Amino acid sequence: MSVLTLGKRRSIAAIVMVSGALLSTGAAQSGTGSVIGTTTGQANGIVGGERLQNLGALKETLLQYHDCTCTCGCYTAELDSVTREAGAFFDNYVSTALTGDHLDKRTGRKPVVVIDIDETALSNWEIIKDRDFGYSRESFLQWEQAAKAPGIPGTLRLFNAVKAQGLPAVFLTARLESERDVTVGDLRAAGYAEWDGLIMKGADAPALAADYKSQQRAALREKGFIVVINIGDQASDLSGEPALGRFKLPNPFYLVR
Ligand SMILES: [Mg+2]
Repeated sequence: MSVLTLGKRRSIAAIVMVSGALLSTGAAQSGTGSVIGTTTGQANGIVGGERLQNLGALKETLLQYHDCTCTCGCYTAELDSVTREAGAFFDNYVSTALTGDHLDKRTGRKPVVVIDIDETALSNWEIIKDRDFGYSRESFLQWEQAAKAPGIPGTLRLFNAVKAQGLPAVFLTARLESERDVTVGDLRAAGYAEWDGLIMKGADAPALAADYKSQQRAALREKGFIVVINIGDQASDLSGEPALGRFKLPNPFYLVR
């Protein structure tokens, strides 16, 4: 072991001890009266947890973010902003990159718009809030069957714009094939009509949504399509197989990999 390495280790050890000491000093100076540790490793263990966001506080923030009552952002305004951006991208594509017979000028391919469903086409906020940000497969299936999920206005607007141009719009969801009938009911109840495809996860699909969705967009390419817009609320909606325009809606409420 070199002297240099030893020296570095000593420095790191010193920094750790100093931060522990600072923590104890800070607590004492804050006047809270709570003893959160000493300058030993006990204090250092608490430091890590204190750096993590408190779950209860985070849930409060998420509720405020959804209802636009915080300075942390405004969910509905951000949904609207991203979907308007997607709409402008689509309008520009139609006016500049489309042949008279609705083919992509550059590639000769058939354009298609790919839209995710949950928290993109439909809002499940009611059940998300009701379950306190937890997930239960059983209660979510009941929610789907109730067909109460409202459409996300900006996505419905984009969908209708695509259909008005006579171009295909396809839903690509990680919902299972067994949920097809209820999903069709959900989409119709929310105002979507005459979509050109509803791609659902089959038994042999990759486990990860990112892999499954990328695979399905690649399958569209193999059928002669070019994905003009791919829009979703998860990074896993957008990774892998590319699109001309990718649009990520906000969703700090849950994560799908
Ligand atoms: Mg989604």
